[in-house]
Amino acid sequence: MKPILPGAMLGLLGGGQLGRMFTMTAHQMGYQVTVLDSDADSPAGRIADQFICADYADQSALQQIGEQCAAVTTEFENIPADVLSTLASLSRVSPGARSVAIAQNRIAEKHFLKTHGFPVAPFAVIEQVDGEDDIKHLFPGILKVSQFGYDGKGQRPVNDEAELQAAFIEMRSVPCILEKKLPLKSEISVVLARGYDGATVSFPVVENQHVGGILDISIAPARISNRVAEQASAAAKNLVQILEYQGVLCVEFFVLEGDQLVINEIAPRPHNSGHYTIDACITSQFEQQLRALCGLPLGNAALHHPAVMVNLLGDLWQKSEPDWTQVLEEPLAKLHLYGKKEARPGRKMGHFSVLGATVDEALASANQIRQHLESN
Ligand code: ADP
Ligand code: MG
Repeated sequence: MKPILPGAMLGLLGGGQLGRMFTMTAHQMGYQVTVLDSDADSPAGRIADQFICADYADQSALQQIGEQCAAVTTEFENIPADVLSTLASLSRVSPGARSVAIAQNRIAEKHFLKTHGFPVAPFAVIEQVDGEDDIKHLFPGILKVSQFGYDGKGQRPVNDEAELQAAFIEMRSVPCILEKKLPLKSEISVVLARGYDGATVSFPVVENQHVGGILDISIAPARISNRVAEQASAAAKNLVQILEYQGVLCVEFFVLEGDQLVINEIAPRPHNSGHYTIDACITSQFEQQLRALCGLPLGNAALHHPAVMVNLLGDLWQKSEPDWTQVLEEPLAKLHLYGKKEARPGRKMGHFSVLGATVDEALASANQIRQHLESN
């Protein structure tokens, strides 16, 4: 495949923070970016070379992107798969429609994983609650909508059939997955890229801590044995090969007692748990996305420093603008703000990463900065 070189226009579906960080990387490397988003003031749209404010279903907008861009990628998994197919008839598109269709729907995702022998939590597809299915073994469980859930939204804990019924109605009776609630020892993820030539490059396994279903901090490298890290990376690599995936993908894992690994979900794009790569790896997940999209050789993904990434949610802004002095004074900390105007509770407004000589050092420093931010 002929590589797409700097100067070319790249198309990006979605204008959120992942798209903004992709656009910043593309600019650094001399590419131009056209962003499509229905929000007139999106983080990526604001810094794009060209911004098309339209819905994903807008055929003339898709035509424009497809004709003007040398290649098109996405920062958002809820792009209808037929939009990617339409674009693929006009331009180079990665990731492909099939992979995105699987990753955007929990039912398709679970079936794909199970069919290919990847370990998943015990689950049942819930399309109606009629008391017929034998689902007692799944309690206590979590009811998750099959589509459009994120950051723990579209999920309810359920302890019995009555609660399941109530939660299902609360979800407006859309197709759901009921998943057994597992005792998690920890959570980890693997962000990796697969290029046009089929080569794969994995970032180091990262450890993730969630609060209220939202990623709170990521610790790289994960504090797990080499054996578990190798198993997770091998599973992620196997998965992208089976999907014949092109681009950057994240696999989220649960680690259970006895170091048993279970795949939680996959995301067909760079991932919040990969933000540490910007400051702590030789190549960032966004550069890797660009390299895979443009048919360039993938970059070296090695970690040059242990790092901790802390998400900054809108809650921090509730009283006033946070006091940035400490994060700016720490020489090993890097602040990233996404330029979102409205700071709603739970909304991802930015993050900071702290490097350290060791994970413990980075963690101590990150905790200190966060305490300072929260105390204001
Ligand atoms: P989202 O799409 O919002 O990231 P996830 O399915 O990844 O949804 O769930 C968010 C978080 O909720 C997980 O990272 C984990 O902490 C917790 N969680 C989800 N499913 C389970 C489960 N089956 N058992 C225990 N914890 C879970
Ligand atoms: Mg998740």
